[in-house]
Amino acid sequence: MTAIDDLLQRHIVGPDLGAPDVPTPVPSLHLAVVTCMDARIKVFDVFGLKHGEVHILRNAGGVVTDDVIRSLSISQRKLQTREIIVMQHTSCGLAMITEDDFKDELEQDTGLRPPWAIEAFREVKDSVRQSVERVRRSPFIKYTDNVRGFVYDVRTAALEEVH
Ligand SMILES: [Zn+2]
Repeated sequence: MTAIDDLLQRHIVGPDLGAPDVPTPVPSLHLAVVTCMDARIKVFDVFGLKHGEVHILRNAGGVVTDDVIRSLSISQRKLQTREIIVMQHTSCGLAMITEDDFKDELEQDTGLRPPWAIEAFREVKDSVRQSVERVRRSPFIKYTDNVRGFVYDVRTAALEEVH
């Protein structure tokens, strides 16, 4: 029995009823949240979110990559979001590896060195600032007046804004 099999079982007995009360894909708070895939972060709980309120974009680190810009451009231009939260966090896996070491590891194992950045970082606040700056400077992101960056402490749930 795999974890996937387990989840398929949970789906059958679980509480999900789809979204019959949310007739539109437009998030009601007109907000997108970019954050890390880290399993400790309960995004809905962090911000007291309700169903249908925001877009949530997750990747390793919660880094604003080209693919996140792709999603944010669709989010803003086709689905009416106007504000963006970038939330990275303490004890992130990306702070525990380095760009070159991980690329070396991939290359040694596969014979291919990835063309994309690992986006490893030493200081999480610097990474948040970099991601916020990428959003602000992207020609594809139309609404940048309300883009704010945060660090979430996975042990205490403290949320610190990064300026
Ligand atoms: Zn992380």
